[in-house]
Amino acid sequence: MWDSILGHEQNKDFLIKFLQAESRPHALLFCGEEGLGKRALAQQFAKTLLCLHTDGVDNCESCRLLNFADGNISHPDFLLLAPEEDSRNIKIEQVKEIIRQSAFAPVLAKNKVCIVDGADKMTADAANSFLKLLEEPPQGWVIILIATAENALLPTILSRVVRLRFNPVDVSLVREVLKKRQLTEQEADVLARVSEGSVGTALALSEQQFFACRKQALALIEALPLPQAFNYLATFNLPDKDYTQAQLFVKALQVLLRDMLLLKVAASADLYNTDLSAELQELAAGWQPRQLRGALREIDNAYKALTESAGIKLTLEAMVLQIDMLRKE
Ligand SMILES: [Zn+2]
Repeated sequence: MWDSILGHEQNKDFLIKFLQAESRPHALLFCGEEGLGKRALAQQFAKTLLCLHTDGVDNCESCRLLNFADGNISHPDFLLLAPEEDSRNIKIEQVKEIIRQSAFAPVLAKNKVCIVDGADKMTADAANSFLKLLEEPPQGWVIILIATAENALLPTILSRVVRLRFNPVDVSLVREVLKKRQLTEQEADVLARVSEGSVGTALALSEQQFFACRKQALALIEALPLPQAFNYLATFNLPDKDYTQAQLFVKALQVLLRDMLLLKVAASADLYNTDLSAELQELAAGWQPRQLRGALREIDNAYKALTESAGIKLTLEAMVLQIDMLRKE
């Protein structure tokens, strides 16, 4: 069941037993890093829970009203709690609306399913209000919380849910999925490694032109140390408008320097960029491990700043200048 989602067999087994059980918990927490398939499995599970056929055929009225692929989620027994488009947080008003819905019995299915997409993104007020819902779950409800930062959840919430942990899947599985895309075997191998067992990340990287970005990042590393840093920046085409592109560039730089550090310090290096090992070996010769570690710290800081919506151009330029100074030390 749920074959479109790769791996996580233990979690799937648990959910299959959950479907068959007579007495079952009201709330589940799917936790783990971004891109591992938590959301996809939550959606498929919700669909199966609400399906009017017992054999899981995808053609009943309920399934038609809950078509996540088309963005059609007009099912009367399905509730979604997630940050609104212009916000990073789930607000108390949104939780109150869900609580208001708990007065109504299911319309079509036997259950109601509520997915909380971003349980770690509730404001303190929202979380406290949500706790009441967990303390007295409405009859027939199944609540699925999704979170990347488990620590951000209230202990009182954690104690009322059954936790299903999502771990990265085997790199070879990710490689298999990628091979079905228009990628060479070599590219599939690199992306599977760079994404560290996250299918979602790997697919996103392939769509975002990771290799073009990596080429640019490699050109920067080759140019270091910069004789005329400011002139170089003026002509180097750093991404300056799009956050996704900027983060992709930083990520590419990170995995290249990571491999260079590994080549310096590890006897048998488990490289991500398996196709560039000769180039990276040569580049690494000009660096001390200390300088590479420093550069990786600068990159982490830049990445974090970008997630907090810092100015793209300033952040990237500062990062490049810092790395250049480290290389010159
Ligand atoms: Zn159905």
